[in-house]
Amino acid sequence: MNENKTVPSREPVRQCSACFTHRTKKELIRLTKGSDGVEIDAAQKNQSRGIYLCPDEKCIKKLIKTGRIKSRFGIFDDRELEERLLACIKEKNRNGNS
Ligand SMILES: [Zn+2]
Repeated sequence: MNENKTVPSREPVRQCSACFTHRTKKELIRLTKGSDGVEIDAAQKNQSRGIYLCPDEKCIKKLIKTGRIKSRFGIFDDRELEERLLACIKEKNRNGNS
């Protein structure tokens, strides 16, 4: 008997806005528009509309470069956001993503 088989994840899947890869919400970073520019919605509980992003430096840079995030969220400080996102993925990767 093998009842310890891993059941395929039924978690909601979202698409990265930079590379369009599908991943589970848990794996992705969620960004929403906050009162003070772009907010990293770490708990993913913010009800406002957001976009998802891989915890990957390449995706962060790509998203900022394409300007897609700007058209979505309005004007903000690119460099400041990039730094915040990079710090966020460092944190995420350190905690491990099981
Ligand atoms: Zn991506």
